This record gives sequence, structure tokens and C-alpha cells, in this order.
Amino acid sequence: MQAQSNKNAPFAKAVLNWYQKFGRKDLPWQQEKTLYKVWLSEVMLQQTQVTTVIPYFQRFINTFPNITALANAPLDEVLHLWTGLGYYARARNLHKTAQIIRDEYQGNFPTDFQTVLSLSGIGRSTAGAILSSCLNQPYPILDGNVKRVLARYFVVDGWTGEKKVENKLWGLTAQVTPKEYIADFNQAMMDLGAMVCTRTKPKCDLCPLSSECQSHRRNDWQSYPSKKVKKTLPEKKGYFLILEKQGKVALEQREKSGIWGGLYCFPQFDTEQDVIDYLIQNRVTEYQQWTAVKHTFSHYHLYIYPIYVNLDEGSENIENIDRTSWKKIAENKSEYQSSLSTKVKYWYDPQNPEQIGLATPIKNLLLQIAKRK
Ligand code: SF4
Repeated sequence: MQAQSNKNAPFAKAVLNWYQKFGRKDLPWQQEKTLYKVWLSEVMLQQTQVTTVIPYFQRFINTFPNITALANAPLDEVLHLWTGLGYYARARNLHKTAQIIRDEYQGNFPTDFQTVLSLSGIGRSTAGAILSSCLNQPYPILDGNVKRVLARYFVVDGWTGEKKVENKLWGLTAQVTPKEYIADFNQAMMDLGAMVCTRTKPKCDLCPLSSECQSHRRNDWQSYPSKKVKKTLPEKKGYFLILEKQGKVALEQREKSGIWGGLYCFPQFDTEQDVIDYLIQNRVTEYQQWTAVKHTFSHYHLYIYPIYVNLDEGSENIENIDRTSWKKIAENKSEYQSSLSTKVKYWYDPQNPEQIGLATPIKNLLLQIAKRK
């Protein structure tokens, strides 16, 4: 669905005029704009605020100045630079898509809407944002900010994640988006949502749409968009075994798919008894329990219980767990009933961190270890 309005229609005109005065025009990806920069920024901005994204974006562009550089980099390096941004599937898709663009499009980002939409990690709104922003192609967008503005302006009932509601909003965004000045208009709608029509306490007195906004007229912006019915998130426990030896700690790489896919993590066990069984098997007699940490994913809370073992202290009885012996243990899974696998594992030096992808709780635990030195 393409843009259907024109620059002189009241909605478009109000938004474009507001953008001229107040819109953001100095974001890093707006300077010397390229399809690559805009694609990267759009992916980073999914579920993430501009202020958080800016330093990550700058580090990425400095390290990978073009698509081919990104495609040629090891995934570990990409995940390392993504560490802390969350939703790591975005980084894996970015890397995969860069390789497809390198191999199938000679390193040039495609410019046809359907082709862009077929790439991993690019949905309809992101494809529209990239092509409208760089090439003025007449595609509307519908990110979280735009959904909020439209749901309030047109008093659209229902949760915006519901297909029926989303389809209605797609119709509305196409209806108000002008075919001209589309790059400015789409940026303006994102800015309006982020700066004026904010989730809480929207600044309706500063809004260019206030005279026609129906939720403002009803003095009822709170009801739009409808909140998702909150489910209580389930809680899970994970026991992270921190094995330290000569200043290094054992990490293993997770499977590419799933939670923290491709990132490095401490060996994880489901129960404390599993950890203890494992330690007994290895004749470890002492361990410390560290304070539990709570980490919330979109669909559950994980309570992380770190269990620390120093293999240098009183470890004469301990089997010499180096990479090789570790693997041997891992292969003998049925005997040890642990979550250890045969995936890559290695000893990580928290004082001289290597460039690998780490989830935030793991990174924090490694910093805690480094600070104790
Ligand atoms: S008038 Fe208020 S509620 Fe309506 S779009 Fe503007 S900021 Fe949002």
C-alpha cells in the first residue's frame, strides 16, 4: 500500500510544517544518508530509543563502514558490538542480510520494495522507512510511534499488535501520508510520536494535530492505543557456573537460534542439584553462591543464580579442567546430566576482554569478576 495523500492536505501540511521547525535533522544516520546507514539505524531503532542507539550506530559505522565490511566480519564481532542493545536476532539477521547483499546484489542495497521486504529482519514498516527516507519512494510507515499518534488521532480501539487493528492503522497511515516530501513526513511522524505524542503525558498543547485529534477533543488520550492485556510472565531459574582458573573463566557459545543465540555464556544448569552433582563428579569441594540476578525477557523472567568456583584454590583434588577435559565431560552428557554441550568453549580473560557477543547479565558478571582483581 502506497502513500495516498498530498502535501497540502491538512494532516500532511500540519505535520510537514511542524517538522520544518522542530523535527530532528541532525541524527548521525541523517548525515550523508545512504541506504546502508538508514537500514542499520532502522534495525537498531526497533524496540530501542534514539539516545540508546546513537553510540551503537557510531561504533558500527566506524567498524563496518559499508555492507561488504559488515558481511565479511565474523558474527562474533558483530554480536560483540551489539552487546547491550538486546534482541540479538536483529544482529544475526543484519549480518545474514549483509552477506546476501554482498553475494547476490554486488554489495548494493536493493531498491525494490518487495526485494527489500524479502530480506531477513526487514518488515513492511522498515522497508518503507528505508526506501522513503533515502529514495523518496512513496511508502508509509507504521512503527510504534506512528501507531500511537494515529490510534489517538483517529481513536482506534484495540491493541495495536492485533492483526485487525494493525491493518486498520496501515490503511490510515497510507491515507494521511503524502506522496511528496515523504522522507520528511515519515521522519516527522516518528519524531512526533517520540517527542510530542509520548506514551505518557503527551504534549497536546505543542502538537500540530491537536485541533483535529479526536482523543484530544475527548480529553481521553489515555485510552489510546489500548493496552495489551498483561499476562503475568512466567519465572524460570538458571544456575550459571562460573569456573575461574588462573584469572580466566569458562564460557561456552550458545546455539545460533533461541535465547541469546550465538552469544557466549557461563555453562547453565537447570537446578542447583545439577550443578552440585557436576562439581562432585569433578571432586570440587567448595563453591560460593553469589547474589541472584533477575533478567527479564519479553516472555519470561529469568532468575540467574551464579555459582562460583575458583579452580586455583584448594584444587589439588580437582580434575584439571582445561578445554580438552571440558569437552570430554561435555560429551559424557548422560552420565553428568548437565546442560553442558559440545559447543565451543573457551577460557575468557575478564581483564583483557575479547571481542565476542555477551548478553548483558553475563557482561555484568564478568565485570564483577574483573573488579575483584
Ligand atoms: S493532540 Fe495530543 S494525543 Fe493527539 S496526536 Fe497530538 S499529542 Fe497525540
